[in-house]
Amino acid sequence: MSHSVCLIPGDGIGPEVACAAREVISATGVEIDWKVLPAGLAALEEVGEVLPETTVRSIEAHRIALKGPVTTPIGKGFTSVNVGLRRRLNLFAAVRPVRNLPGVKSRYENVDLVVIRENTEGLYSGLENEVTDGVVQSLKVATRTACERISRFAFEYANSRGRRRVTVFHKANIMKKSDGLFLECARRVHEREAPEIEYDELIIDNGCMQLVRDPSRFDIVLMENLYGDIVSDLCAGLVGGLGVVPGANIGNGCAVFEAVHGSAPDIAGLNMANPLAIIMSGVMMLNHLGETDAANRIKHAYNAVLDEGNPDVLTPDISGRGGTTDFAEAVIARIRT
Ligand code: NAD
Repeated sequence: MSHSVCLIPGDGIGPEVACAAREVISATGVEIDWKVLPAGLAALEEVGEVLPETTVRSIEAHRIALKGPVTTPIGKGFTSVNVGLRRRLNLFAAVRPVRNLPGVKSRYENVDLVVIRENTEGLYSGLENEVTDGVVQSLKVATRTACERISRFAFEYANSRGRRRVTVFHKANIMKKSDGLFLECARRVHEREAPEIEYDELIIDNGCMQLVRDPSRFDIVLMENLYGDIVSDLCAGLVGGLGVVPGANIGNGCAVFEAVHGSAPDIAGLNMANPLAIIMSGVMMLNHLGETDAANRIKHAYNAVLDEGNPDVLTPDISGRGGTTDFAEAVIARIRT
């Protein structure tokens, strides 16, 4: 069966890693009709806007996309393409599985956790204003609808994946109303809909300390938008860095698969970026499409390449001296054998 999938190459290292993922997926023989779409700085240059309406409409129509990272200017300029896309497509849940991989050096063993991040509100509401000269404010928005929705998603995810515990990170000791509502919703969904799953809560500063002391004690960690953003990168650091952690943004109608990492301008165009994170995001996408055999073949192939540990094939972020294309070619060669 052939699938239509949107592909956003993005900015910085995006086109390099997205191209690698596309080639790896195509080596499995799964037929994909890729609709290549502009977004980010690339789109600004091409069509004069960072998130063209045609890109949003196309993802709405095809319901699935693989996305490279996009650059967002700091402190001024346009609003984030990611925030815009997640909001427009109502991609309310970010799912980031974080695991040790064979041959990838890390200070920790037995890490196997999933960060579930609320993706549509919190401090990402974009509601900022200047009260008076030298005084600005940002509104942190929490709604019962979104807090319940992400809580339900987390417990349903736990049940469907055989996971045993959900831990909420929060700061309800300070943000009593917004994080208080998040906690209230998580507790209620747990009690009423998933009492068989273990549930606990940690104030986020303590949660981060516990994560770096012993990440193996965590299973699913659930949190609001900004905490999820920060904790995702922290967790990537536990297993070898941003080059090895995939992600999915899931909504009721659409799903957009993308790595946790950004556009990495420091290494863009140098054939140094690790394509594994977006390849792994592609594996999540193939599973979502029901192409589990192809997904497993890619997974076995990259595990074998990592296990082999040839430094000429691994990218520098995981102690190799190979390039983006060397790694992708090695994975493709494994898939074909
Ligand atoms: P980043 O994730 O791009 O890079 C952080 C560090 O990790 C850099 O040293 C980079 O070289 C390294 N890195 C990231 N991905 C890598 C990979 N695949 N292989 C090897 N090394 C990798 O974060 P940043 O530098 O803070 O952000 C750069 C830009 O990306 C910003 O404009 C930011 O807004 C954007 N961003 C986009 C997304 C997205 O589109 N999903 C996510 C995060 C950041």
